Amino acid sequence: MENDKHTYQAIIVGGGPAGIATAITLHARGIRCCVVEAHKTPVRKSGEAIPPNAKPLLKKLGILSLVEHEKHEIYYGNKSCWGSDQLEQKEFIADKMGHGFLLDRLYFEMQLQELYQSTNNSFYKGYKLKKVVSDETKTIATIENATETITLRADFIIDATGRKASVCRHLNVPKENLDTQFALTFNVKLSENFPNEIIVEATENGWWYVAPFAENEITMMFFTLKALLPSKENSKTFLRTELHNTKHLSKIITDITIDTVKIMPAGTSCLQIPYGKNWLAVGDAAYSYDPISSYGITSALASGFYGGHAVADFLNRKDAALETYRYVVENAFRAYIQKLIAHYELEKRWEQSHYWKHRLVVFSTEKAL
Ligand SMILES: Cc1cc2nc3c(=O)[nH]c(=O)nc-3n(C[C@H](O)[C@H](O)[C@H](O)COP(=O)(O)OP(=O)(O)OC[C@H]3O[C@@H](n4cnc5c(N)ncnc54)[C@H](O)[C@@H]3O)c2cc1C
Repeated sequence: MENDKHTYQAIIVGGGPAGIATAITLHARGIRCCVVEAHKTPVRKSGEAIPPNAKPLLKKLGILSLVEHEKHEIYYGNKSCWGSDQLEQKEFIADKMGHGFLLDRLYFEMQLQELYQSTNNSFYKGYKLKKVVSDETKTIATIENATETITLRADFIIDATGRKASVCRHLNVPKENLDTQFALTFNVKLSENFPNEIIVEATENGWWYVAPFAENEITMMFFTLKALLPSKENSKTFLRTELHNTKHLSKIITDITIDTVKIMPAGTSCLQIPYGKNWLAVGDAAYSYDPISSYGITSALASGFYGGHAVADFLNRKDAALETYRYVVENAFRAYIQKLIAHYELEKRWEQSHYWKHRLVVFSTEKAL
């Protein structure tokens, strides 16, 4: 069985930033691992800003040169209308680490996957996790694509599947939503180029996030609470009204044709505990962040790095390693919650509206802190 080509010490499910950071770390520690990724080639995801304080981590992971590639931009901070009627530049420049990066996200995902594959070819691309069975000592994962089903065996499994936390779902480990924020997202083609920056603007019912997508194309997202979500049929009218109600975006983006609107969860959620007997979760699978924090990619890479080391230590019989990982990521999550509360509390223009009145309620409970 040990010679079986589908037998590993660790299986990583998910080939996004968290999964690849885990895989690079495990491979560097001499752990025989593989990555399973549902998409054959990377797909475009939301999220493009990397803050300056991520640089030491990028160096540790050996990926700083990837973000310094000319496809990505040096970035000094978002433009934001939040807490006052002014549209202000929120500069990273005051940060002692200097500038951050505005990623071509699709290219970044390709770079990460190529880097991993240049050292380790155990990459099941285009395979979806179908089943996980885990006992005290072994994990058996069934994966499949359109033509074949493969059984993988390992000592350990890592959930890097993003918000849905698919491995945890198979293992009946629940993920808790700490709020009910949703994003309504769509793309818009423009007749002229949009400035290469992210613009955020708060409104009475939530907030807008607008980012460059491709030449003459932007991604627009409106974040609101579940109770305020329109029906699918009314979503385009709802979004047009919300855009009309902005002070700045409505002047910058004057003419929009909305094709398809996707509605997806975009709040804060977490596992009660990010590891078990022979599994561990990294990235959004363990902790999903509010996009206002620009925290997701860096946190995914960081938890991949620390999670990878924890799994390598654990497999080398250092039993406390997984609990140490929990300590590190839980503390980071607590710090995030404090910053999130402080950020939402800056906005006091619509204190009686449903969104702003209910936005923080759940975070002020002892459980969330
Ligand atoms: C609107 C919005 C704006 C954002 N803006 C920012 C930002 O400015 N800065 C920032 O840092 N973050 C931002 N984020 C968050 C950031 O994109 C995520 O936190 C990040 O992608 C998490 O990485 P991950 O590797 O954990 O998960 P993902 O990137 O979601 O990767 C998970 C991977 O697992 C694969 N997968 C899932 N299920 C299976 C399965 N069953 N079998 C096999 N493979 C599977 C998926 O195909 C995917 O490739 C934003 C998010 C949103 C929604």
